[in-house]
Amino acid sequence: MKIHLRPLVALFTLVGAASANERHARLARKHNYARDTTTSSMTPSTSTSSSTTSSGSAAVSGATTSVATASVPTTGPQTNTWGTTIPPLTQITSGMPSQPTLAVTATYPAGATPPISGAPVLPTPYVFQASSWPPQDQIAPTDSAEVSEWMQELNGFDIPDIPPTADGTCAGDPSAAADAADRGWWTCGGYTRDTDITACPDKLTWGVSFDDGPAFYTPQLLDYLSSINVTSTFFVVGSRVVERPQVLIEEYMTGHEIAVHTWSHRPLTMLTTEQVVAELGWTRKAIKDVLGVTPTLMRPPYGDIDDRVRAISLAMGMVPVIWTRTPSGATFDTNDWKVPGGVVNGSQSFATFQAILNNATTLDTGFIVLEHDLYPQTVDLAIGYTLPAALNFTPHLTMDSIGHCNDIPATNLYRESNQNTSFPYPNSTSGDSSVPSGSGGSTSTSTSKTGGSISALNADAIPMTVIGTAVLAVFGILLL
Ligand SMILES: [Zn+2]
Repeated sequence: MKIHLRPLVALFTLVGAASANERHARLARKHNYARDTTTSSMTPSTSTSSSTTSSGSAAVSGATTSVATASVPTTGPQTNTWGTTIPPLTQITSGMPSQPTLAVTATYPAGATPPISGAPVLPTPYVFQASSWPPQDQIAPTDSAEVSEWMQELNGFDIPDIPPTADGTCAGDPSAAADAADRGWWTCGGYTRDTDITACPDKLTWGVSFDDGPAFYTPQLLDYLSSINVTSTFFVVGSRVVERPQVLIEEYMTGHEIAVHTWSHRPLTMLTTEQVVAELGWTRKAIKDVLGVTPTLMRPPYGDIDDRVRAISLAMGMVPVIWTRTPSGATFDTNDWKVPGGVVNGSQSFATFQAILNNATTLDTGFIVLEHDLYPQTVDLAIGYTLPAALNFTPHLTMDSIGHCNDIPATNLYRESNQNTSFPYPNSTSGDSSVPSGSGGSTSTSTSKTGGSISALNADAIPMTVIGTAVLAVFGILLL
């Protein structure tokens, strides 16, 4: 894991007051669907969304700095109903002794019916053959028939001609960092686009997610989530999926959402377009081979996304999901991933989480927090501290998976069950396409380095009102 230094890149932001219903409707428009309140299904609608530029202002090195007030136990051990013991917070450190792990609690045979309407039954049990996959945890090679085929999915999409960054960090590429606003580069200044999911629409709703698994301690987390009746979105790494398919199956079959988090977990902006396609494509394939479904949500490692990476992801049928960043630049990263490496300790990570909850109470919308299920320390922090703190928090928090909190029907979260032809966003050259990935398009549109979401969504699909609002937003007049 790499530590990112985030320089100061400012953009003016004003958050307008709006009722919850207005925000909800706006986010529904943002994600290009409308709620049908009689059937709870989503129907495509014409996007008239407006907020197209950054939600950022001066970044403070990923910091959440307000004083924590959440009241939860900070000493242990706490024995859970399933028999494991959570260490005292002060003992959740890089040198923490290993603990017993749980096996998956149930096995699901081929042919089992998943909890997603219209999704195929579970395929034949997965057998990993290394020769069929890229080397684990290395940037996926691009010289394969698979990658050549997946590259075709970009046809007809406007992929901005933005050069790869040096290493996905601001300090490593000052000239790219200076151009971050034009690039829509989240890493340097928190620039987001209309197509990004960065929050839950409803205030005081936490869109729960865990990244980088499935891993050794994920079954403990699944048991705990089940015990508190909370579903999460799991952003999984392809190199882990092929190792622990049964854990992925348990996540999926017990109602959690599965989304793509790349093959080797590199910053995507530093990769070539072919490499980004390979990273997303192999992970997508690993999930499909295990579950029989192809996710329509993805999260870039480190949140490292720009307009080129966005456009590639959308062309491949995957909507980017990041974590919340407040207007003042506080990112909702618990830094739990820094505990195994000793950069921060458990107490510090939990204090960061408490600050996040306090910051969340100041937002007009809900929020998304970055946490991980890869390491025992991060799972212990979740089970023993962050999730209980959220359950006991005042004011009351609603905890939900990210797709669900955004009113995206579960069927839309996988290509095989998705019936919404405009989610993910269609190829501009075939606006009535019945396939979500945009595959099969043949006409390339012009490229544009600037223009942000206009590039990502294709300019000829964007109403002029959106373009006008984008100009206003640059001047700090209006933002979501
Ligand atoms: Zn990650």
